[in-house]
Amino acid sequence: MPIDREFWSRTSFYNTKFDVPEWQCPTCAKSMLRLVRESLHDLDDASSVRNSNSESWDPGQDTGVFSCLFKCQNNSCKETVSVCGEFDTDRVGEYGDYEKRYYPKMFFPAMLMMPIPKKCPENVADEIRAAFLLYWCDISGALNHLRKSVELIMGRMKIPKMTAASKSKPITLHQRIDIFRKSDKDLADRLEAIKWLGNFGSHSAKAKQKQFFDACDLLEDFVQTHFEKRGKRIVALTASTIKKKGR
Ligand SMILES: [Zn+2]
Repeated sequence: MPIDREFWSRTSFYNTKFDVPEWQCPTCAKSMLRLVRESLHDLDDASSVRNSNSESWDPGQDTGVFSCLFKCQNNSCKETVSVCGEFDTDRVGEYGDYEKRYYPKMFFPAMLMMPIPKKCPENVADEIRAAFLLYWCDISGALNHLRKSVELIMGRMKIPKMTAASKSKPITLHQRIDIFRKSDKDLADRLEAIKWLGNFGSHSAKAKQKQFFDACDLLEDFVQTHFEKRGKRIVALTASTIKKKGR
């Protein structure tokens, strides 16, 4: 299942009843998280404290940091998720009232931004989870974890790290992917694309976000095809269904 780009592109919320996104519990992946409103605390940062006494101060310039808790709505789970980040201030609504807009920079435990297939090797899944943790504060770092997962996939496939001639001379990730390309060109291309996305961070936040979503989709598809055998399972299911129908 591709990552929900529209949902995860939203990286802020106002503390109003209908504005907090319906983030899913990362532990049970069944219920939504609810903001524990009394846990939300914020304080002005140093520049707001310094400037708030000046005559030119506008409440719309107010910035600072916050922390809060979210609780899972599933009674058999009841996970608590801790969130921290920063805020700025914006005019909202019909009357242009000032409201604080909160930007989470860390969720702990990390959000599950897309399901990780069951047969995904555990060390690869760990890198994906680490990418989801960093997404909020360091997308380049998150992309680096997705790139690292490609290295781990190469290891899982027993593609050598060192040249046969010299055990001390490492083979680059690109060369390792080329070795795998001899057995499956399409899947090797997918890994190479993730590697490129992980290598070069774009300058704008929007472009970085797109790079991250693209890498997630490519990696998810690779894991589904290679480890879960999704295509082969569907072909077998199709064949056995047609056979039962007597064709
Ligand atoms: Zn839960």
